[in-house]
Amino acid sequence: MRARGSGEAAPRPGDAAIKAAPRQRTDAARKPAPRPTEAAVKAAPRRRGAARDTAGDAARGAAGDAAGDAARGAAGDAARGAAGDAARGAAVKAALDGVRARCAVEERRARDPVSFVHRYTDPADQELVALIAASLAFGNVKALHAKIGEALDRLGPEIALTADDARAVSARLRGFRHRIYRDRDLVGLIVGARRVQRASGSLGAAFAAELSRTGDLRQALGAWVRAIRRAGGLDRRPDDRGAAHILPDPEKGSAAKRLMLLLRWMIRPADGVDLGLWPVPPSALLIPVDTHIEKLGYNIGLTDRRGATWKTAEEITAALRGFDPADPVKYDFALCHLGMLQQCPSRRDPVRCQGCGVKPVCRHWDE
Ligand code: SF4
Repeated sequence: MRARGSGEAAPRPGDAAIKAAPRQRTDAARKPAPRPTEAAVKAAPRRRGAARDTAGDAARGAAGDAAGDAARGAAGDAARGAAGDAARGAAVKAALDGVRARCAVEERRARDPVSFVHRYTDPADQELVALIAASLAFGNVKALHAKIGEALDRLGPEIALTADDARAVSARLRGFRHRIYRDRDLVGLIVGARRVQRASGSLGAAFAAELSRTGDLRQALGAWVRAIRRAGGLDRRPDDRGAAHILPDPEKGSAAKRLMLLLRWMIRPADGVDLGLWPVPPSALLIPVDTHIEKLGYNIGLTDRRGATWKTAEEITAALRGFDPADPVKYDFALCHLGMLQQCPSRRDPVRCQGCGVKPVCRHWDE
């Protein structure tokens, strides 16, 4: 039955009914069937509208409730996610701070290539020694220590003065070899670095000028490397592996670990390990990513990347910046030595993981 007031005439008595009841006609029967009153007509649309309104309200209410529930659910999820992230970040920071606090710095420094730099007092010697030590920090730890020591012994105590004389450097290093490096590679590095040092006042000033000019760590380092390679003639042997590897181009995608190590030593504030010689803020640094840092960074969720690439270094550093924006790389020394100590198996290994300072936040030990 249609609702009244739909616009059709109200039903009237049918002809059959009228014929069948002629004698029974009453005034009432003769009268036309009652028509909807004005009030009813007026009321009907309102009722229909009311029905629509009610249905609409219900639908809107239900949709609103659903949307509200979804929004509240999403907000709740986001809040729980943010709280979880904050708790996780706090746990990782606490683990890293603990590793740093427990690091036996003097003992570990003696086994680190940076120890060679601390044997010198003149900043010009220190930055040249740092460049030599970082560049030769390649391969087996014991062998590289022996080779750095050998090169520095050959060059004598006043490295910068010696480096002014390319022939003398070449004579002193004759026959030197370390893995793919030959004496001529190391000569080119030292002589080139000394020429840039003299031209700019220091290697640090040369690097800071490039950073100021480019505003980008990678580009600045690339320009600084090219200047040394050019000044030392390393760029004249583009197909020579030793000449290419001893001072690599950071713009080729690798993590440039040895260059980052040099920057950390020279730029981070003096703390008994790093020397704080160069006029560059430590916030500009990227962590030197070697196999130990790459494994630890992945295992404790500082990155989901695998491989020692520039991107990995950027991601790990970005995560560390959350713990100390001014000096994110301060965790590197302790973490790297933790990695060496633990020989991280990157799996749940009750024996080898024993005593690991980041075990509480390691993905392999997540409950
Ligand atoms: S707990 Fe084990 S797997 Fe995890 S980082 Fe430490 S040594 Fe590596």
